[in-house]
Amino acid sequence: MRNTLRAVALSALIAAHAAHAQAPEGDVAWSILAGLTSEVGPRMPGSEAEARARVWAEARLKALGFSNVTVEPFAIRGYVRGRDEASLTAPFPFKLAVTALGYSGTTPEKGIEGEVVYFATLDALKAAPAGSLIGKIAFIDHAMKRAQDGSGYGPYGQVRRAGPAIASGKGAIGVVIRSIGTDSHRNPHTGGTTFADGAKPIPAGAVSNPDADLIARIARSGKPIRLNLTLTGKTTEGLPSGNVVADLPGRDPSLPLILVGCHLDSWDLGTGAIDDAAGCAIITAAALNAQASGKALRTIRVLWAGSEELGGFGGKAYAAKHAEPHALAMESDFGAGQVWRVNFTIGDANKPLADRIATALSPMGIVRGSGKANGGTDVEPMIEKQKLAVVDLDQDGTHYFDLHHTPDDTLDKVDPADLAQNVAAWTEVLKIVANEAGPIAAAP
Ligand code: ZN
Ligand code: ZN
Repeated sequence: MRNTLRAVALSALIAAHAAHAQAPEGDVAWSILAGLTSEVGPRMPGSEAEARARVWAEARLKALGFSNVTVEPFAIRGYVRGRDEASLTAPFPFKLAVTALGYSGTTPEKGIEGEVVYFATLDALKAAPAGSLIGKIAFIDHAMKRAQDGSGYGPYGQVRRAGPAIASGKGAIGVVIRSIGTDSHRNPHTGGTTFADGAKPIPAGAVSNPDADLIARIARSGKPIRLNLTLTGKTTEGLPSGNVVADLPGRDPSLPLILVGCHLDSWDLGTGAIDDAAGCAIITAAALNAQASGKALRTIRVLWAGSEELGGFGGKAYAAKHAEPHALAMESDFGAGQVWRVNFTIGDANKPLADRIATALSPMGIVRGSGKANGGTDVEPMIEKQKLAVVDLDQDGTHYFDLHHTPDDTLDKVDPADLAQNVAAWTEVLKIVANEAGPIAAAP
């Protein structure tokens, strides 16, 4: 017995030591990721927690040696979560694992009750006759599959982004979707929806994949389904948010700068480790590494954007505020899976620059793609405004949508070795672009 206990204690010690060895003291990326998720935690757009995250970010970036560390405030239309509950009431009672979507309509405290109309796809919902959902609750299924490049999120994410407004337009009193996720856990995936162009907001939630499977099975059996839906959260105008911007000044401040972005806010179910504390950790550590042997030629600016999750408010506010010349933008907002591909949006004159980047990344097993680079939500408005060159370091997203916007988005899901690979790839790119003396431009 005593020997067994000793063996257990010893193996626990070894495991703890191994974890420590993988994320050593002084690892800037890990310290940002661990600090933000542990000391601040969930960071909903416009919340008190997001405000604390800005204070945390400002102090950390100054301590890391960044210059011009600035909080740039703006106000947003936010969503304040309430009580999220859903239960089948027919053909049998069953409590569902549900989360409200951002900007969901609000139910009374006792919820709403109605007949469920099942739609296998978003297109099936679109094809439903006008008025056919009056007094009913729409359920929208879909078939998103896991993919290395996460490409299912564009089309299938539309179920969440656009489905509720379409159901509202046909008279539905509420809508429930299958979570936009690839896991099989009873974790619902939250995320924003939109009721644009005069669509009346209706209560909108997502149920976990196993619960969606259950609803689909009952629907196939032909038995009528009824649902009680209680989502008491509220859309709220004028909540305070902001960006945190910081520079590593270059040797020639007159040269257009290099912008690297991530977002500071997160959903509230987990602690926003993969979305997107990891991104802030990666870009910031890489920016510092790029200056490790002295100042780079160009200024590298980090943008820790606020309120990305409810509609990219931070990226829009940044572009509206800044007129100083930028050359190139990059963003990290896809977790901490290893970088496996690089893509460029860059002018023909900069082909040698792109070639140099691809050559530097090649020994890491990173392949050159043939697609366009888009940056991401936080830097896209600036890319548009100044027609910037863009480099995308595409990460392995095979498991990203198992965790995305769920209670499982926590620090333990990040592999320190994967995080370090990201930092190494970003460092290679930033060293090259921040020391490029000639003009850098997007394709005309
Ligand atoms: Zn994100
Ligand atoms: Zn997100």
